[in-house]
Amino acid sequence: MLFNIKKSFFCSRTPCFFTTFAAVKIESIMAKYLILLAASALFFGCSGASSPSQESNAQVAENAIFDFSADSAYQYVVRQMEFGPRVPGTDAQRACADWMSNELKRHGAAVKRCESTVTAYDGTRLPCINIVGSYNPSAERRILLMAHWDSRHVADNDPDPSKRKQPVPAANDGASGVAVLLEIARQLGQKQPSVGIDIFLTDAEDYGAPDDWEGDRNEKFWALGTQEWCNAPHVEGYKADFGILLDMVGAADATFYREYYSDRYASDVVNLVWRTAAKLGYDKLFIDRSGAGITDDHTFVNRMRNIPTIDIIDTRMTGGGTFYPHWHTTDDTLDKISRETLGKVGNVLMNVIY
Ligand SMILES: [Zn+2]
Repeated sequence: MLFNIKKSFFCSRTPCFFTTFAAVKIESIMAKYLILLAASALFFGCSGASSPSQESNAQVAENAIFDFSADSAYQYVVRQMEFGPRVPGTDAQRACADWMSNELKRHGAAVKRCESTVTAYDGTRLPCINIVGSYNPSAERRILLMAHWDSRHVADNDPDPSKRKQPVPAANDGASGVAVLLEIARQLGQKQPSVGIDIFLTDAEDYGAPDDWEGDRNEKFWALGTQEWCNAPHVEGYKADFGILLDMVGAADATFYREYYSDRYASDVVNLVWRTAAKLGYDKLFIDRSGAGITDDHTFVNRMRNIPTIDIIDTRMTGGGTFYPHWHTTDDTLDKISRETLGKVGNVLMNVIY
């Protein structure tokens, strides 16, 4: 993603605003999602439909467990790392896509896999594999959960210039968000939520122009998979009440500030998520202060599909850095991933969903 607004928006919101106006909005959103909606047996597919496992849903309905498992989420990071960098156009891309599709199906989602070809900043034609796993496909009230699953093709932020043409391992910048969403899928498979949930694993987010690229550096070269989906969503005329994007949600010392575009397009959703985190005691992780503005998948969803969508993304406001320190380096590796952070992010999302 592009980091395009520095610290100028830091701390621009007042506590007064948050405790009055926002509180009312949060309550109305929460009330809305307590409405029980009938689950549907409508399944669909972009390249073949899969049907939820009714047997497993029935089996566990009686003693459903809502505990988001940080351990399981961590194992989902491990599994992705075993493929190697999931760079578009590589064998790892296809293998990981197959595995993710199967995981979603195994956990009862109706899965759509949409493959296309996108054009990168340098004219390279890239295979793009977007995967959407849906729960309660016919429910009108829907929440869109997103994470990019691709690994950046070049580690252009690496401190060692000789490594800047290598791909990013992408333990945090890619695998962490997917891991949280796959663990949520596992939970959804055990207990159908009352609302519809669409888990969108988007490809080719991180193929934007490298730092040393002298040609066009337009932001349109980021989030290529999401732009494909915005132009041709997995369901014609797709709508969701709101969306939540996860990006770099696994580092031990992560901090999530209220990202600027999230507040601009979807401040009610930011309020809901940050308030939920505070209730769980995670206010050191989800810091209720304005942060930077970042061009990421959510900016395209907001602009192109008018779905109010926020970005939970690890940005740093101390130490002079911008993102997680190993962002776009060859050091974005498994040892940076914390079960605790994955678990907290997962718990927040579970509490927003249920
Ligand atoms: Zn990235």
